[in-house]
Amino acid sequence: MAKQRLDKLLAGQGFGSRSQVGRMIRCGGVQVDGVTVKSPSISCDPEKETIIVAGERLFYKPFVTLMMNKPAGILSASRDNRAKTVVDLVPDALRRRDLFPAGRLDKDTTGLLILTDDGQMAHRMLSPKKGIEKVYHVQVEGTVGKEQQDRFKQGITLADGTVCLPARMDVLEEGEKPLLRVVIMEGKYHQIKRMLGMLERPVLSLKRVSIGGLLLDDSLSEGQCRELTDEEVKAIW
Ligand code: URA
Repeated sequence: MAKQRLDKLLAGQGFGSRSQVGRMIRCGGVQVDGVTVKSPSISCDPEKETIIVAGERLFYKPFVTLMMNKPAGILSASRDNRAKTVVDLVPDALRRRDLFPAGRLDKDTTGLLILTDDGQMAHRMLSPKKGIEKVYHVQVEGTVGKEQQDRFKQGITLADGTVCLPARMDVLEEGEKPLLRVVIMEGKYHQIKRMLGMLERPVLSLKRVSIGGLLLDDSLSEGQCRELTDEEVKAIW
């Protein structure tokens, strides 16, 4: 690990903006190998030096990966000039400078969203070649039976000619507006809405509940997020 500026390092680890951590350093809140440092620009190696911030030891993490229970009405983006984004919902303690949503959910879709600053991890998780299953609960308008399930199994061709990989559809609750469990391995734009559109079953609500072996933590209320455990990271790696 190359040395880096202390203020940049601490900001990158979620201790605040560069100017906030700079103030904290100048006020004597940070020790490196037992010595209080007052200069935000000194270089440190967090894997070799012991850094104490406001009395707490820094355990350096190169990347952070979060799960969020995304609410409806929020954009899956890092930043936007006009609208609130999922990154805006991340509390300061978990915020990292380069955090981005790994895969998008539509503005009106809810449920499991991964946010990370680890590009390699996101790339792997999103690649259709890896065959990671994404599971959604979907309420649609109109009854659903074997005919629709078979069309999903065969692979739906969308209106623009795009052919989707075979997908699964199970009925969780029957009725005029049934609740479905849909499993896909891709992440095309508006994919489930467009697939169900081809079956003339408009989507009324859409929630992602799992990605690979990673399940949405149902103790997270909408808009909340938490860091993944090491086991959970392995489930999508
Ligand atoms: N499919 C959609 O149509 N929308 C989403 O947000 C996710 C999958």
